[in-house]
Amino acid sequence: MGDGVTLIQKADRWLARRLVRRMLPLGAGPGVVTVSFDDAPVSACHEGRAILDHHGVKGTWYVAGGLTDRLEQGEACHSVPDLEALLAHGHELGCHTFDHQPCSGLGAEGMRSQLQQNRRFLQGLAGGAAPQHFSFPLGDYGLASKWLAARCFDSVRLTRAGIHRGSADLNGLLAQRLYADEMTPDRLRSLIAETAACSGWLIFYTHGVSAQPRRWGCTPALLEQVLTDARAHGCELLAVGQALAHFRARTEPAP
Ligand SMILES: [Zn+2]
Repeated sequence: MGDGVTLIQKADRWLARRLVRRMLPLGAGPGVVTVSFDDAPVSACHEGRAILDHHGVKGTWYVAGGLTDRLEQGEACHSVPDLEALLAHGHELGCHTFDHQPCSGLGAEGMRSQLQQNRRFLQGLAGGAAPQHFSFPLGDYGLASKWLAARCFDSVRLTRAGIHRGSADLNGLLAQRLYADEMTPDRLRSLIAETAACSGWLIFYTHGVSAQPRRWGCTPALLEQVLTDARAHGCELLAVGQALAHFRARTEPAP
């Protein structure tokens, strides 16, 4: 999201990354790899889920209720039954804004009402619950929206790349793009090796999953590689909520 970002927005994000932090110590142990899907396109709900299910892995889908049965950037988004199938298979639904609007232009009232509407939507699904995890639509955030999201969720995810080492800011989780047009098998392998070596946490995000992926999506082969490489390096594969519980458990003082 470098395009169209003004100097003031850049300064706001720079500040936001340094303030309103909620640090989670990661402790020592195996690296942790998380797979997440933004917007839950149909292909992520079907092909993406099938691959995770095959490997016995849970993922996190960040959903904007307003995209249900709609197109986002030309890609077909989830239906209600798609989301309910994710829940039935034990996957985690995170929260976007309801209409997928970027947050920094919404104002506090607008953002609150978007979050409330989306929370209501997710709670209304069969098996649904209040979402605990949020990601900023289009990776758009600033100090005010970070503060607001931080008050509502256990974790808040950005679209800024990086491996968490030693600790993670729960109000500004880093996430690595898993896009077919830029991620090579070698780069993927080295990111996972690095995560394993530093007992870190690496969160991937993508959109659709298809053999002919759209611009912001990945291929089934690339997604498979995340899972097999993570296992080969001894990493745990956990949804966002599972990862938080895992880190909290391993850093708790012994009784
Ligand atoms: Zn999105």
